[in-house]
Amino acid sequence: MGKFATWLACGLLAIVAVAAGGVLDRLLATGFLFTLVGCVLAALYLLGTLTPSAPLFGRSTRVRDEPGRFALTFDDGPDPRFTPAISRVLAERGHRATFFVLGIQASDYPQVLRQLLADGHEIANHGFDHRLLAFSPPTRLRAQLLATEQAIATATGRPPARLFRAPHGVCSPWLGHTVGRLGYRVCGWNGRIFDTAEPGVPAIVERACRHLRSGAILLLHDADGSGRGGDRSQTVAALPAILEEAERRGLRSVWLSSLLEPPLERPTGGPTAPAPRDAIAKALAVFDLEREGPRGETGLARSGQPLENGDGEPLAGEKEEAQAHSD
Ligand SMILES: [Zn+2]
Repeated sequence: MGKFATWLACGLLAIVAVAAGGVLDRLLATGFLFTLVGCVLAALYLLGTLTPSAPLFGRSTRVRDEPGRFALTFDDGPDPRFTPAISRVLAERGHRATFFVLGIQASDYPQVLRQLLADGHEIANHGFDHRLLAFSPPTRLRAQLLATEQAIATATGRPPARLFRAPHGVCSPWLGHTVGRLGYRVCGWNGRIFDTAEPGVPAIVERACRHLRSGAILLLHDADGSGRGGDRSQTVAALPAILEEAERRGLRSVWLSSLLEPPLERPTGGPTAPAPRDAIAKALAVFDLEREGPRGETGLARSGQPLENGDGEPLAGEKEEAQAHSD
């Protein structure tokens, strides 16, 4: 279901809830009681579906109030035209970012993902093909996450951080629960730049700087989730000025996972453990990823732990492995 069809369907559902309340009121002669209930339910449904930070369909991530730290996040990549430049600018200035990547893009451009890790950034899960998930059943949701997990693991030798951002931030009443059972946290943002509209470099800088503060989660894009190959060169061009202003304010971008409250658990078994191989195989079957390499071996059996802590410090015992992945 496309973007506009999904939004239309969500709106129709809300209208149905209100209309059903009206019918009940008429049948039971209860005045406007059930109409009012229908309005409240419709409003809650739309709020929970279209507002990723709203806690209605499961709690979204919260960040700690840590002075001088904020999170730059980039969605929809990797794209070899823009992602390497963004990664390089960030790394040269000592900033780290979280990249919510698509499985389909990760399959196409594994070398870009490896470069992101080598530059010290964090890779997270944005679903496989950027379809809106408002009406996807739990099995389909699981397939989206697991197929992306596998694509990232194949490309980099390690699974993504257990962070998931739904395409366009569109949720469903069961999305939070399903994602949580796979060990992921649902991530929203508190600073949206709308850089995909290509408003011009000065506008992107101005919008980003408006949100710059400790604990900010800025949403930018290093690729085009629609698959139409949209241009993100304005975002690339705006980044140095955004970082300059952040530094002037004493702010440093770190991994989103390092700001979470409560902290993100490192997988040790149970519900946060990497997905079992047979579950991944089923997810891959859904998407028929024939162009990928051999899948008998999955990197998900490995640690599932990040290379660094978002402040650029390698985690204990990870330094040699980090170097191994920087090629
Ligand atoms: Zn997206």
